[in-house]
Amino acid sequence: MRLYSTNRSAAEVSFKEAVFKGLPDDNGLFMPVSIPQLPSAFFETIDKLSFQEIAFQVTKTLIGDEIPDADLKKIIDDVLSFDAPLVKVEDNISVLELFHGPSLAFKDFGARFMAKIMSYFLQKEKKEIHILVATSGDTGSAVAQGFLGMPGIKVTILYPSGKVSDIQEKQLTTLGQNITALEVNGTFDDCQRLVKEAFLDKELNNKINLSSANSINISRLIPQSFYYFYAYSKLKSLGLPVVFSTPSGNFGNLCGGLIAKRMGLPIHKFVASTNANDVVPEFLETGIFNPRPSVATISNAMDVGNPSNYARLVELYGKDLEAIKKDIFGTRYNDEETAQAIEKVYKAGGYIMDPHGAVAYLGLKEYAKTTGEKFSGVFLATAHPSKFIEVVEEIINKKIELPERLQTVVNKKKEAFPLTSDFSDLKSYLLKSM
Ligand SMILES: *Cc1c(COP(=O)(O)O)cnc(C)c1O
Repeated sequence: MRLYSTNRSAAEVSFKEAVFKGLPDDNGLFMPVSIPQLPSAFFETIDKLSFQEIAFQVTKTLIGDEIPDADLKKIIDDVLSFDAPLVKVEDNISVLELFHGPSLAFKDFGARFMAKIMSYFLQKEKKEIHILVATSGDTGSAVAQGFLGMPGIKVTILYPSGKVSDIQEKQLTTLGQNITALEVNGTFDDCQRLVKEAFLDKELNNKINLSSANSINISRLIPQSFYYFYAYSKLKSLGLPVVFSTPSGNFGNLCGGLIAKRMGLPIHKFVASTNANDVVPEFLETGIFNPRPSVATISNAMDVGNPSNYARLVELYGKDLEAIKKDIFGTRYNDEETAQAIEKVYKAGGYIMDPHGAVAYLGLKEYAKTTGEKFSGVFLATAHPSKFIEVVEEIINKKIELPERLQTVVNKKKEAFPLTSDFSDLKSYLLKSM
């Protein structure tokens, strides 16, 4: 697999180089030079394949022979140690539950795949790396879980003190082993700035092999295509066009679906569903991309004002707005509409949506209403409702059970190292921790 930069001034790299570099030197994003099609035989028999078999074929087709088949199979089996069930919610509407991994959010797919791939390449070279990651909540725990216990890899997570939920904080601060949490007296933006400064600091980089686990890493994008294929495999026999609605913030999840389609998956339409942070739906309507500071909502993992995968999205369509609009329908909902949807779906059939999944549900309904088309609709549920327990319990007026793996975390003791938002503090901490 060869990858180029969307800004086109950095040199092409291999898959391995893209994984460890994260970002090209020209600040663009890595994109595959070509996205190969899967053979038609694959789609003819896809409904007989397991999730792991589908994922293996997809990955092999994309990355080629950089990882031998047997090793790649093992990586995929390790990553997909949990299912992504498709659950019927209404006639012709199903939810694809992407929250059955260790951190209970869909980011487990990307983070686990990246972790296994990095560790595979590192073992061959006997190198050690130190991963630095800033988180506003979900990313940190998925990344930490992904790298937990991996030899040769240290992970340091920076999170803003008092600005993540109690459960999220417990998920970040109770793992131990090779994972350390730094509780920064500042905002998420401060955490991100500190990480950036660390990567620019010559002295640190001479002494420590720093690496990023950034959400735009190509190895986080690839596995986010797997479950679109898998959901399709279960709906294929119905013979209806398939529409996916993806609750979006940085648009990595949706880009995973666009890559699946480019590889030949017959997806009729994508619905890009956002909360009030609607920069991309607005772009689809006006053709103008106007990034701006994010606003806080109850679907907070989508509170993104400058979606980092926008460059990939337009690149996939050669910047042709009409072509993008043919594939993607954009919608947005406010918190009140989101809460009403959670309540309505719960009352109608007992299904409990989290606020992110609820935004995607609304997008699917609006698409159906606007077009009058008949289709198999799938909305992606990106987090377990208990991750947003206060919000959801109040809406449905009922206690939610914590899944066992969250319960265990809640009972553990928080261990975090307090830090100011001053870079010199982070630097001396990292130098001491070597
Ligand atoms: C990160 C996240 C999203 C947004 O995904 P993007 O790939 O950034 O669009 C949606 N829901 C949840 C629960 C998330 O954690």
